Amino acid sequence: MDQVKEDNGDYYLYNHLYAWETCSECEAFRAKDICQHCSQGVCSRKKCCNIFPHKNNNQFIVCNTCSNEIEDNFVLVIKPDELRLLKQKIKGKIAMNKSS
Ligand SMILES: [Zn+2]
Ligand SMILES: [Zn+2]
Repeated sequence: MDQVKEDNGDYYLYNHLYAWETCSECEAFRAKDICQHCSQGVCSRKKCCNIFPHKNNNQFIVCNTCSNEIEDNFVLVIKPDELRLLKQKIKGKIAMNKSS
């Protein structure tokens, strides 16, 4: 189910995104969310990213590139414990990317 969001400034501010940032997947649409894995902006179309519900009305966004990469470890319904593990994994990966 696609979540259609208002295309307004508040939403971009909320996501700490700049208006010029385009989706790293299709490079056509504006980024509306950030991949939790590689920190690239993605538009919220299903084609470009997978959106998982998370606690406190948050969403867990993973771009298609990353979701292909981590598909083996990824399940559609993430239990809190699994999500925590996944986040730790992702954190480690992002830290590695940054230091290299
Ligand atoms: Zn896109
Ligand atoms: Zn990604």
